Amino acid sequence: MNQYDGIKDSDNRWGRAWNADTYKVATSLLILTTTPLMVFYFYISAFHFDCSLFLPIQQIVEGQLTLSEFLALLPPFSWGSALLFLGWVSFQIGLAILPDGIHRLFPTYKGGSILGSITPGGLRLSYNINGLQAWLISHLLFLLAAFWFGWFSPTIIFDHWGTLLWIVNGMGFSLAIFAYVKAYWFPSFPQDRKFSRSVVYDFFMGIELNPRVGPIDLKLFFNGRPGIVAWTLINISFASAQYAIHGTLTNSMLLVNLFQGLYVLYFFWKEAWYLNTIDIHHDHFGWMLAWGDCVWLPYMYTLQGLFLVFHPVDLSWQFATFVLSFGLLGFWIFASSNNQKDRVRKSDSQAVIWGRPPEMITCSYVTQDGTVRQNRLLASGWWGVARHMNYTGDLILSLCYSLACGFDYMFPYFYFLFLSVLLVHRCLRDEDRCRHKYGNYWREYCDRVPYRLIPKVW
Ligand code: NDP
Repeated sequence: MNQYDGIKDSDNRWGRAWNADTYKVATSLLILTTTPLMVFYFYISAFHFDCSLFLPIQQIVEGQLTLSEFLALLPPFSWGSALLFLGWVSFQIGLAILPDGIHRLFPTYKGGSILGSITPGGLRLSYNINGLQAWLISHLLFLLAAFWFGWFSPTIIFDHWGTLLWIVNGMGFSLAIFAYVKAYWFPSFPQDRKFSRSVVYDFFMGIELNPRVGPIDLKLFFNGRPGIVAWTLINISFASAQYAIHGTLTNSMLLVNLFQGLYVLYFFWKEAWYLNTIDIHHDHFGWMLAWGDCVWLPYMYTLQGLFLVFHPVDLSWQFATFVLSFGLLGFWIFASSNNQKDRVRKSDSQAVIWGRPPEMITCSYVTQDGTVRQNRLLASGWWGVARHMNYTGDLILSLCYSLACGFDYMFPYFYFLFLSVLLVHRCLRDEDRCRHKYGNYWREYCDRVPYRLIPKVW
C-alpha cells in the first residue's frame, strides 16, 4: 500500500479537514492548553533563572521552590501595558486601511488592491496590500520618538515585556472566540466555511477561511501586522536594553537584528506573494492563527534577542563571519525559491528559471462548486531539487539566529527546534492536501522530484 492508494479522481478537492478524528482533537487540545503555559515559562526562565530552561523544573522537583513561589514570579497585570498594546493594534488598523503609496515610488513593488488565489468555494478576493508602508511608517515614528525626540526610551518594549504578556493573551483568546462565534452568526463568505463536528477542532483550526470585519481581513491583518511589524521593533528594543544594561552592543545582537530584519523586510516587500502561501490560501482563521499571531509570534520568535539582553555573547570574528555567510545562504535559498514559484505562477512560461524556460506540470483540479480549473506545478529550479527548498532555506537561516547566541544555553535554540517541527509537519500536511487537490498530477511531480526537504535524504 503506498501513499497514493485510495485516492480517486473525485477526491481532487482541498481545504482543511472535514472530519476531525480523535488524534486531531486530542492534539488540538494539547496545544491549546500547553503552549500558553510555555510562553509564561519562558518569560520566568529569562527574567528569573538566567535563561535556564531546566533550573525552574529542577528546583521545583528538588523542593527548593514551591509551586506558589514559582507562580509568584509571573508578571503583574498593568493597565499601562494594556493601553500601550491596544494603542498599537489600533494604530496598525489605521495603517492597514490607508491606500498604498509605495507601489507608485517603486514600480517593482506589488502593492495596492491585489487579488488573492481562488478559494475552495470558487471566490477570488481583493486585498489592500500596504504592509511595507505600514512597516516603514511604524519604524520611522518609533525611531524618531525614541532616539530623536526622546519621548520614551527605546527599551520601552523590553521594559513592559512581562506585563504585556497578559494583554496579548487576552487579545489572542478573545479574537479566537470572536472568530468562532462570527463563523456561525455572521460569516463573511459562508461557502468557504468548514465544520468538522468537533467544537475543539473547529475552535482551534478555525471555521472561516477569510473572515472580514469592514475593510479588515482578519487573517491577513493579524498574521501580517501587529506581530510582524513589531518583530523588528522588539529586536531594536532588546538591542537598546543590552546597550543600556551592559554598555555594549555585541556582534551577536547585530547578527540577530540583521537576519530577522531581512526576513521581515522580505515578508513586506513580497506581501502580495504571501496571499498565495498556505497561511492565506488554505488555513482557516481559528485559535491557532489568532493566538499564535498575538502571542506566540512576538514572544517566541524573538527569544534570541531577549537571550542576548541577559547574555551579551561576543563571537570571534571567524565564527561571526561563518554565521553571517551561512545565514545569508539560507536566506538566499528561502527567498529565491519562493520567488521562483511566484514568478512562474504569475508570468506562466515567460519566466526564466536558472537561465532556462521553466519545466512545469499543468494540472486540473475541482473547486467545491464543481468547476474544473487549471494550475501549474514548477518542476525545475529549486522546485526541481526538492519539493520544499523554501523550508530548507528558512531552517538554515533560523539555525543561524541560534548559532549567533553561542552553545551554552538551550533557550535561543528553541525557535529553531519549533520551526523544524512546524515545517516538517507543514510539509506533510501540505503534501496531503496537494495529493487530494491534484491527484495523479501530484504523483507525477513526486516521481520527478522525489525528495521533500533535503536532496538524497528526505
Ligand atoms: P509554500 O509557499 O511552499 O506553498 C505551498 C503551496 O504551494 C502548495 O500548497 C501548493 O499550493 C503550491 N505548490 C506546491 N508545490 C508547488 C510547485 N512545485 N510549483 C508551484 N506551486 C507549488 O509554503 P508555505 O505557504 O507553507 O510557506 C511560504 C514560506 O513561508 C516558506 O518559505 C516557509 O519557510 C515560510 N514559513 C515560515 C513560517 C514561520 O513561522 N517562520 C511558518 C510557515 C511558513 P497551490 O494550491 O497553490 O498549488
